[in-house]
Amino acid sequence: MRAWMLESPSQVALEGTAAGPLTLREIARPEPGPGEVRLRVDACGVCHTDLHTAEGDLALPRLPIVPGHQVIGTVDAVGPGVADVPIGTRRGAYWLRRACGTCAACLRGEENLCERAEFNGLHGHGGYAEWMTVPAAYTVPIPERMESHAAAPLLCAGVIGYRSLRLADFHPGGTVALFGFGASAHLVLQLAARQDAKVFVFTRGESHRRLARELGASWAGMPGDEAPELADSAVTFAPAGSVVPQALQAVRPGGTVAINAVHMSDIPSMPYSLLYGERTLRSVANLTAQDARDFIALADRLDIRAQFTTYPFTAANEALQDMKASRVDGAAVLDVGGA
Ligand SMILES: [Zn+2]
Ligand SMILES: [Zn+2]
Repeated sequence: MRAWMLESPSQVALEGTAAGPLTLREIARPEPGPGEVRLRVDACGVCHTDLHTAEGDLALPRLPIVPGHQVIGTVDAVGPGVADVPIGTRRGAYWLRRACGTCAACLRGEENLCERAEFNGLHGHGGYAEWMTVPAAYTVPIPERMESHAAAPLLCAGVIGYRSLRLADFHPGGTVALFGFGASAHLVLQLAARQDAKVFVFTRGESHRRLARELGASWAGMPGDEAPELADSAVTFAPAGSVVPQALQAVRPGGTVAINAVHMSDIPSMPYSLLYGERTLRSVANLTAQDARDFIALADRLDIRAQFTTYPFTAANEALQDMKASRVDGAAVLDVGGA
């Protein structure tokens, strides 16, 4: 089968070349081990974390590695011990590949913080390939009416956005401020707006502000602008530490700011008064299998749709370039099944 391999990380060019850190290789089709299923991959979302992986910003426990952790495919083989995932059904694989189940975090039910967690596209080959194997317990059923390419971005941008909104103490009918407006924020906006929340979006790009209004934002402005009122909850998506004081400034006393970022530049020094008034500031790390199940079911019920741009399977390096240069509105998706 064909698979995009990261053999050694390197910088992604901003434009102009089809070359990049990933190399298209012919490798053996994987066989599912105990507890695993094999997916014939249909679509794989391209995530900012893939860019961090390809450029070597993350510690890489295994090389070469096939990236990709927003994977929709059809189960075409199951390993020993898999009884509940029928062949022929569509499943999604996401960032968390497996948690150990025995560490202190897992025993507290916080498998997203598992000390021995493994991630797709980092510890195990991901979805930038025609087939992938993944533990059955860490896959999510994909509802009938969700088209594969449209559903792929829901699996990282969507699920982690959902978790961020929850950790920002979101409640239906509340007021939410979003800082940055990429793949994750445009899904969080829909999730909040369809639960009768007022949503304020702070983003530099005019096209992003327009899209935010189209998708149901009550207000969209530049970072530093003042929204019509203080929000109950805020989620930051931009990887710049400078958004943290801005977000604290935008929430009411008792409100919560959740940081949805794996990497962030240093948070600048700020007056304590921004935090005082029992505001809460917290980060969001990874996701649980339950988050994925809950969010996909909710996204189906609320008819949440990703805005996405499809790239041919052979254009993985171009997709990373476009993402790095912020040329993608919404999410980028690799059309693996159409290859
Ligand atoms: Zn991701
Ligand atoms: Zn664990």
